[in-house]
Amino acid sequence: MTNKPKTCAICREPAAPARIDDVTGEEKELAVTLRGMPVLVCGNGHRQFVNPDFPLLLLDHLTELDEPKLPAGSEKGLIVKHFHCADCGGELRQQADHRHTFSFDVALPQIDAFAVDLTTPVYRCSRCGREQLHSLKELRKLTPAALAHAFKAAQIPHG
Ligand SMILES: [Zn+2]
Ligand SMILES: [Zn+2]
Repeated sequence: MTNKPKTCAICREPAAPARIDDVTGEEKELAVTLRGMPVLVCGNGHRQFVNPDFPLLLLDHLTELDEPKLPAGSEKGLIVKHFHCADCGGELRQQADHRHTFSFDVALPQIDAFAVDLTTPVYRCSRCGREQLHSLKELRKLTPAALAHAFKAAQIPHG
């Protein structure tokens, strides 16, 4: 880590750490809300990531560490997909029961922790009644685009 002062990538004014209000990005049935995400802001109000790796680190954290902890069924069938309960193997309903919000505290190296909410439909097991996602694979597929929409909503230039 260096302590050299950060500058704005757009106007070259000094940029200081700040946190942004909640922003949400949606992709199909997934909504990602970033709560108090740390950014750098210059005197002209331009926002940028605290470091260039931030979007990739956040995506990795969500898809590799946080999402695998969620209750999720397993996918079967090549043409017509069925989803089966992680607990009892019973079939999950095709219709979502409701949308559920899962919250995580995300701590990335050298970056202050902040919260991320994932809101997505949950499906009830027809045998034991446990609510879960249809599949982790589906959730992971939607995460990069939902995150990109959230960054856009936060007015942070991204890729
Ligand atoms: Zn600027
Ligand atoms: Zn079950």
